[in-house]
Amino acid sequence: MPTTSPSFTDVLHAARLIAPHLPETPMWSYPVLSGRVGAETFVKHENTQPTGAFKVRGGINLISRLPADHGKAGVLTYSTGNHAQSIAYAARLFGIPCTVVMPENPNPAKVAAVEALGATVEIKGATMVETAEYVTALTEERGDRLISPADEPDLIAGVATLYLEMFTRRPDLDAVFVPVGSGTGAAAACLVARAVAPRCRVIGVQSSLAPAAHDSWRSGEPVRRPIETVADGLATGSAFALPQSLMRDLDDFVLVHDDDIRAAQRVLLTEAHTLSELAGAAPLAALLARKEEFTGQKVALVCSGANASPAELQRLLT
Ligand SMILES: *Cc1c(COP(=O)(O)O)cnc(C)c1O
Repeated sequence: MPTTSPSFTDVLHAARLIAPHLPETPMWSYPVLSGRVGAETFVKHENTQPTGAFKVRGGINLISRLPADHGKAGVLTYSTGNHAQSIAYAARLFGIPCTVVMPENPNPAKVAAVEALGATVEIKGATMVETAEYVTALTEERGDRLISPADEPDLIAGVATLYLEMFTRRPDLDAVFVPVGSGTGAAAACLVARAVAPRCRVIGVQSSLAPAAHDSWRSGEPVRRPIETVADGLATGSAFALPQSLMRDLDDFVLVHDDDIRAAQRVLLTEAHTLSELAGAAPLAALLARKEEFTGQKVALVCSGANASPAELQRLLT
C-alpha cells in the first residue's frame, strides 16, 4: 500500500489544527431514546457541523497541512456528496482553488451547495469509476493536488478528532456504532479507541443494499458491490485500502436494511430532536436490531450528517 497510516500523534496534531475553525460538537443522551434502547445512549452530533457532516474535520486537517510549496496550485477531488462539501469548505478557508468533479446527472442541490462554497464543479463520467479516471488525468495536466475520498492519512487523522472528543467526554463507553461508506470514520474510530479506550467495542454499520466495505472487511480482500441504498453517505461501491487496513481493528461490522435506517431516522427526529440524513441514522438502526446485547451499557452513536434530500425529508414526515 503506498499510503502510510496516521498515528495517534497525528490525531493530536489534527485536533490542534482544526480547533480554531470548528468547535467541539455536542454529545447528548436522551432519556426516551435510552429507554427504548435499554442502554444509556449518547448521540454525537456531527449533524451540527457547518457543512452538515463530520468529513469537514478531515478536509480542514488535510488542506491546512498542504506543503508551503503547494503555492497557488489548486486541489481537485471527485465526489457526489459530503466529501465534496468538506474539501470545498476547507479550500475556501485557506484560499486555495478547488475543483470538484461529479459523475453525470448530479443532484442539483449538491452542485449548488459546492458552488456556493466557491468551488468549481465539473461534470464528467457516467459512473464514479470513470470520473475518478478523468480526475487522475486532469491532475497530471494541471499540477493540482488530487485528494482521494478516503486513501488519505490526513483525512482520517482529521476525522479522528471526532472520537478524541467523544472518548475525552465519556472514557467509560462500552460501545460505539459508526456508519461506514468508504471507511474513514470507522478507521478513525479504531485508531482513537485503540489508543485511549481499548475496552470500548467499535462496531461498523453499512447498508445491506451497498455492502462493499462490509464484504471486503469480511473476506479480507477488496470487492466491488452494486449500490442500491438510498442512504447517500453509505453509498460506496468499492473498498479503499487505507481505511480497510485500519478497520481490521473493528470489533464487529453489521449490515442494516434501508427500511430499518428509515425507521431509525424517524426515532432520531422524535426522540432526539435531531434531523439526521439516512446515513446518520444507520448506527441507531444497528443498535435497535441487537439491543439485547447492550442492555445496561453505555453506547455512543455517531449521527454523522444532516444533509437529507428534499425527497428524504418528505418521506420522513409521511
Ligand atoms: C461520508 C459519510 C458517512 C460514511 O463515512 P466514511 O468515512 O465514508 O465511511 C456516513 N455518514 C455521512 C453523513 C457521511 O457524509
